[in-house]
Amino acid sequence: MKDRIADLIASRKHLVRRLPDPSTILPGSLLSRMVRCNKPGCRYCEKGKGKGHGPIWILSVSLGNRRVRQIPIPTEMKAEVEEGLRTSAQMQKSLRQIARVNLDLLEERKRRR
Ligand SMILES: [Zn+2]
Repeated sequence: MKDRIADLIASRKHLVRRLPDPSTILPGSLLSRMVRCNKPGCRYCEKGKGKGHGPIWILSVSLGNRRVRQIPIPTEMKAEVEEGLRTSAQMQKSLRQIARVNLDLLEERKRRR
């Protein structure tokens, strides 16, 4: 049987090597919203019928203390924002995995004292 500590260190090394480039990460989540223009006679905004204009895209970021920062995202920047959010999620997932390996390492090292 191989050394468990060596295995854990190897899998941690693997996880660290696969960490994404964090330079473009973004916080928050992308929401879509329909908007009403309030122009009389607009068929998109007609009461009870129209769904409004859009969707427009909004990056919504919780700042804590119930404060939220909302940034409207132009369509041509949407893909870039989605990529930043994906990278952020991947980064967080990888960090959680590394932290779990470190927990196992800690326990294994304690067992061998
Ligand atoms: Zn309208």
